[in-house]
Amino acid sequence: MDLHGALVSSPGMGHAVPIIELGKRLLTHHGFDRVTVFLVTTDISRSKSQLGLSMSETPGLVIEFISLEVPEQDLTGSVLNKLATMMRMALPEIRSAVMELEPRPTVLVADLMGIEALAVARDLEVTRKFVLVTTSAWFLALTVYMASLDKGTLYKLVSSREPLLIPGCSPVQLDPVQDPSSIQDLTECLRMGTEILAVNGVFVNTWHELECEVIGSFLDPEKLGRAMGGVPIYPVGPLIRPVEPGLKHEVLDWLEQQPEESVVFVSFGSGGSLTSDQTTELAWGLELSRQRFVWVVRPPAEDDPSASMFNTTKNQATKTDFLPDGFLERTEKTGLVVRTWAPQEEILAHRSTGAFVSHCGWNSILESVANGVPMIAWPLHSEQKMNAWMVSEEWKIAVRATGQGTVRREEIAEMLRRVMEEEEGKEMRKNVQNLKNTAQESLMRTESKNLQI
Ligand code: UDP
Repeated sequence: MDLHGALVSSPGMGHAVPIIELGKRLLTHHGFDRVTVFLVTTDISRSKSQLGLSMSETPGLVIEFISLEVPEQDLTGSVLNKLATMMRMALPEIRSAVMELEPRPTVLVADLMGIEALAVARDLEVTRKFVLVTTSAWFLALTVYMASLDKGTLYKLVSSREPLLIPGCSPVQLDPVQDPSSIQDLTECLRMGTEILAVNGVFVNTWHELECEVIGSFLDPEKLGRAMGGVPIYPVGPLIRPVEPGLKHEVLDWLEQQPEESVVFVSFGSGGSLTSDQTTELAWGLELSRQRFVWVVRPPAEDDPSASMFNTTKNQATKTDFLPDGFLERTEKTGLVVRTWAPQEEILAHRSTGAFVSHCGWNSILESVANGVPMIAWPLHSEQKMNAWMVSEEWKIAVRATGQGTVRREEIAEMLRRVMEEEEGKEMRKNVQNLKNTAQESLMRTESKNLQI
């Protein structure tokens, strides 16, 4: 019988890209005959253009879009809340799309933020259910650990602001430095943690050398293995979009003119937004630093750091009158400002790129690692603060702003110089190069990874 998998991704490039790459991997290395990937999106043409080469033909792979219209007022709360709401709204359509598949899939995979889609497997009696974690094993550990505590203990721990001591992991400090969540997010995390315990396996976009201790803890029946209740985890990373050879783009043309490792790339993921004040400080910081830069700018948003993720109209704005007067003219020779979107993989892979100012979305981190680029960690929301802690404190491949609130121009300029010019930056470059090597080794081991599907 044909092995056919249906893979469902919640909205956002950070979920779509790794799930498509997982689909390809299942076809090329793990005996699948067919994989259908369903991408839930509010804007099909934008998703198609952003996916680029990910959409290219792979024998056996079919990509379908599930189009969703959501009135803005229906999306409230945190990013996690919004994604969960969207997935619940998309469920009837996902269900009918899966029902139409011939032959009916025997395996269903949903990404962690779109875990609602597993309801379809229950309804349609798809026997094997899996989750793809598109972020770190450490975040999975937090999710599963919280779900293993009784609610009273958990809420007491959270309100005491004591670090969460997850077996085999760095403690998670629920404060502004590492805080993965608001209380609202906690509820969503608990729901995800409970659902995970009912699946046949969990794929995680990570690899042994990157998160050795956390993965070790999952494999240890006395540690997180116990909280998982026998559900296996498979570190299948890195799952990242391949670089598109020969891609034409104004940024790549500009990078061609710049010296090796001389350019700072600044981008806050597929939907990160800064306040007006922060945008102004960043512009001045770039200028003061005297470093070359490519900056993907978005219109400011005062009260929502993920504003551009859900507000596509705003994302398409082309004006840059929110930048300081004369900024574009003064930096004309050293910098390039791109509106809303740029080919990040190709930029990070370019020899002229020397550092990456990033919001620390997990995909951005893996892309930076895979290309050996040190970072300036600038988390905005969700688990990005945990990720920022990991890159700066654990792996030592990034600097991170020290203060709370708006990061001032002097500090920004200083951080850029530390990474681009100082000994500290050279050390980071070495560290990230070592991680890059482990990423390549992990890819070479794909063949031998035994997934119980
Ligand atoms: N991305 C891109 N160009 C942009 C912004 C983002 O190609 O201008 C891609 C980026 O390479 C990554 C994904 O979008 O693959 C963003 O995922 P991540 O997990 O870093 O952040 P999220 O957008 O989910 O917050």
